[in-house]
Amino acid sequence: MTDVDLLVIGGGIAGAGVALEASRRGVDVMLVEARDFAWGSSSRSSKLVHGGLRYLREGAFGLTRESVRERGRLLQDAPGLVEPQRFLLGHYEGRSPSRRTMAAGLAIYDAMAHQRTRAFHTPAQVRALAPHMATDQLLGASSYLDAKTDDSRLVMRVLQEAQRHGARVCNRAAVKSLLRAGDLDVPSSSLLNRGGASVKPGTVVGARIEGAGFTGHVQARCVVNATGFWADGLRSGLGATMLRPLRGSHLVFPLWKLPVAQSVSLLHPRDGRPVFATPWEGVALAGTTDLDHHEDPDVEPRIAADEVAYLIEALRHAFPRLDLRAADAVCSFAGVRPVVDDRAGGDPSKAPREHVVLDEQGLITVTGGKLTTFRVNALDALRHAAPYLAASGRRGGFAPTGIAGDEAGSDATMRTHDFDYRTADAIFAPQPESPALAALPHGLRTRLLGRYGHQAQALLREAAPADLETVAGTTTPWAELHWALRHEQVRFLDDLLLRRTRLGLLLPAGAASLLPRLEPVAREALGWSAGEWRDQCDRYARIVAQCYTVPTP
Ligand SMILES: Cc1cc2nc3c(=O)[nH]c(=O)nc-3n(C[C@H](O)[C@H](O)[C@H](O)COP(=O)(O)OP(=O)(O)OC[C@H]3O[C@@H](n4cnc5c(N)ncnc54)[C@H](O)[C@@H]3O)c2cc1C
Repeated sequence: MTDVDLLVIGGGIAGAGVALEASRRGVDVMLVEARDFAWGSSSRSSKLVHGGLRYLREGAFGLTRESVRERGRLLQDAPGLVEPQRFLLGHYEGRSPSRRTMAAGLAIYDAMAHQRTRAFHTPAQVRALAPHMATDQLLGASSYLDAKTDDSRLVMRVLQEAQRHGARVCNRAAVKSLLRAGDLDVPSSSLLNRGGASVKPGTVVGARIEGAGFTGHVQARCVVNATGFWADGLRSGLGATMLRPLRGSHLVFPLWKLPVAQSVSLLHPRDGRPVFATPWEGVALAGTTDLDHHEDPDVEPRIAADEVAYLIEALRHAFPRLDLRAADAVCSFAGVRPVVDDRAGGDPSKAPREHVVLDEQGLITVTGGKLTTFRVNALDALRHAAPYLAASGRRGGFAPTGIAGDEAGSDATMRTHDFDYRTADAIFAPQPESPALAALPHGLRTRLLGRYGHQAQALLREAAPADLETVAGTTTPWAELHWALRHEQVRFLDDLLLRRTRLGLLLPAGAASLLPRLEPVAREALGWSAGEWRDQCDRYARIVAQCYTVPTP
């Protein structure tokens, strides 16, 4: 039996955020991920760090304000990983939104961020900014600033910071069942001392875990369920289901096929839903769809042919001269939003996007919400976990301020304001610079610092000069592949090419052309035999063909 203070189940952004915020406060944390870090929706999002302008229209002021504030923090604390992104939305005769409605919304949006980024562009300016946009009946366009990121690298950065604070993070380690006080698996004599309080029978006190990353029983003062749209599965027996899984899919185009210099916000001609075409990592992402997902949760999600048709219809309407077709896309990807079910069963796009936190017999479930607000969600979850964590911590007490000072360290009573996200520390501590990093070209330096934080220097030390060259057609240096293979718990080729790096989304056929150069490096780092390498390549080709290619509408 392994003992920890806090067991976090799920290695997406929600679990990573909880692990970071708890470990930086002195809590002894173990995080387990069943598949691969960020395998769920946290690597399949639209990659936007945004306030969510459309949530304003739906009256979700709280969510928008929270998201805008977090966007500001992430832009400040993670340059190179979270970058500003300008959005452009055309106004057309007889179609909404009008210039005036948009101006009013953007004024509120800007005010929430204490900045002025909005602008109006005349049709002539729009032609210069986005030459391929439809110009028939164009009255002009509004623009504003939001931000974008590499979602799975954001998860990795948060996990890495959590590890720096002592968290243990295990990839490919699935919780098979929860342990409850009174179970035969949990001898009462071994229950952790919970500040002298007796543990009620049935209270969740740990989990049985199986997988390559960890196998065994873990006993914890508190267990957090951060399993995204799988959360209901883990809660079964504790409460009624609460999630409405909604699939969202994207198409990825080479930038020369869909040349967008800023993100273009389109309203779908069929239903008026917003669809974005966003430049990202040298390609253009077009998405997303939003529909009920009824597939088996254990099967990797994929785009359906009618979703392809829906997205192509929006793009052809917004960029008529480009004559875009499904066959122009490099690939597709799909994810499932863990959206809290309002039981109204209405338009998926109107379903609430706020996160929820539940405490069910000691199992703290945190789900819903957005990538952007991961820190707020994590602090909220920890507020609920606090009574269970009292008197825990490697430093002799759960130190709520992150500094194990006398006052915090000796006080076992948690105070809710200790988790107030408005006053909490920077998300990522500033990283030390080194002469080697300072000598790099600006773009590469900020990229490495943003994505690898304190590990950027070590990555650079391990890189041969040739490894700093980028993979042709991308901005990814070879050194990132080498680093991931050696240090980021890669087990399969898809971990490496779809999540640690995004090359499988950026290059045709899942970046199959890189495999010959990768073979010796991967085999040396992971000890794969020639046969194992072939199996890896076959498995990867199958995943790409089944879940990342573009079905013909
Ligand atoms: C199409 C789409 C577009 C989106 N766009 C944006 C956007 O632009 N901006 C934004 O802010 N948000 C966006 N979101 C929302 C955001 O991506 C999600 O809210 C967020 O990623 C949810 O993170 P999570 O950690 O809760 O879930 P996930 O990322 O799904 O992570 C849950 C993890 O738990 C693991 N797990 C499940 N069961 C077990 C078990 N038994 N044991 C161990 N591990 C387990 C899974 O393998 C998975 O990795 C989007 C979502 C989708 C689907």
